Amino acid sequence: RTTGIHPSPGHHPTEAPHAAVRSRSYAGRVDYAEHIVDLVGDTPLVKLNALTAHLADGPLVLAKVEYLNPGGSVKDRIALRMVEAAERSGELRPGGTIVEPTSGNTGVGLAMVAQRKGYRCVFVCPDKVSEDKRNVLKAYGAEVVVCPTAVPPEHPESYYNVSDRLVGEIEGAWKPNQYANPENPASHYHSTGPEVWRQTDGRITHFVTGVGTGGTITGTGRYLKEVSEGQVRIVGADPEGSVYSGGTGRPYLVEGVGEDFWPDTYDRDIADEIIAISDADSFDVTRRLAREEGLLVGGSCGMAVAAAQRLAERLAGEGRTDAVIVVLLPDGGRGYLTKVFNDRWMSSYGFLPPDSSGATIGDVLRRKDGSLP
Ligand code: PMP
Repeated sequence: RTTGIHPSPGHHPTEAPHAAVRSRSYAGRVDYAEHIVDLVGDTPLVKLNALTAHLADGPLVLAKVEYLNPGGSVKDRIALRMVEAAERSGELRPGGTIVEPTSGNTGVGLAMVAQRKGYRCVFVCPDKVSEDKRNVLKAYGAEVVVCPTAVPPEHPESYYNVSDRLVGEIEGAWKPNQYANPENPASHYHSTGPEVWRQTDGRITHFVTGVGTGGTITGTGRYLKEVSEGQVRIVGADPEGSVYSGGTGRPYLVEGVGEDFWPDTYDRDIADEIIAISDADSFDVTRRLAREEGLLVGGSCGMAVAAAQRLAERLAGEGRTDAVIVVLLPDGGRGYLTKVFNDRWMSSYGFLPPDSSGATIGDVLRRKDGSLP
C-alpha cells in the first residue's frame, strides 16, 4: 500500500486531503501515524483480472478498495468530515454525544472518530440487526439502543422516534444525519474524487459506484466532472427495485445501497446513467470477487462490479480500448459471512442449488485424484 508519505508528482490537492498527510510523524526513520483515524482515505486501486478476462483488449477496470480504511469501509471518510464540520460550527462541543440511527459502517466510522476525540456515541438500530453487528459497535465503545422492528414508524419506540427523542433529551447531543448532511458528499468531493483523479493520472474515463445515501456518487462524481471538464462519465449501480433506477422501493437483499426515498445527499444531476442489478447477479459477482480476485468484500461491491462489467462489455463492443473504469468497493465481506458467503442462506433464496452444503471427504479426495467429484 502506498502510504501517501511522498505525494506523487501528479498530486493536485484541493485542500490537505487527508489527516494522514497532515499528522504523520517522522522521528528519524520511524514512520507512523499519530492515530488510526489519521489513516482514513488514500485507499489503493487494484486491477480486476479474472472478472474482466472475457473482454480481450477491453477497458482497464480498477477497483478502489475502501475496506482498507481503518474502520473497514468508505464510511470512515464521511464520519471524520461530518464530525470535524460539526466541531467547527459548534454543533458538537467537547464532551458531546453523537446520536445516529445506524447499525453498520457509518456507526463504526463515527465510533472510531468519537473515541479519538473524546465524544460519547449512542447508536439506534432495529432489532433485526444481528448481535455480531451490535457487538462491533460496542467493541469500539459505543452504546447501542435496540428498537422493535414490528412497530409502525409513528410508534414512540420506533427506530425513527427513538433517535430523535435521544437527541432531544441528551445534553450536548448531535445527530450527524448522513442522509441530509452536506458534509457526506463533501467528504468525497475533497478526498475520494481527488484520489481517483491523481491515481489514474487524469486518465479515468468512467466512475462506477453503488448509491445508498448518494454521498459517494454525488461528491466523487461532482469533483471528477469539474476537474475533467465533463469528460468523466459517472455511472450509478442500484439494486433492482430501488428508486434510483426507477423502482418503487420493492425489497431486495443487497445491503447499504438503494432507497425507497430520495435523500438530500443525492444530486440527481451527477449520474449520467444508472444500471440496475439483480440480487442474484450482485451475490454471484461478490462471491467471484472473493474466489477469483482475492477480494473478500460486501454484497454492494458485487453489485457495483456487475455494473462495471456491463459497462466494460459495452465499451469493448464500441472499440473503446482506451477506457479506464474505476469502480468503488465500499466495504469488506467479514460482515456478511452468514449471508452471501453462507451456502445455506444463498440456497434458501434460490441463489444456489439446494444441495450445495459442503464437500465430503470423499469429494475432496477424488478431486485430488484428478477425477471428477
Ligand atoms: N455499500 C455499503 C455497504 C454501504 O454501507 C453504503 C452506504 N450506505 C453504500 C454502499 C453506498 O454509499 P453512499 O451512501 O455514499 O451512496
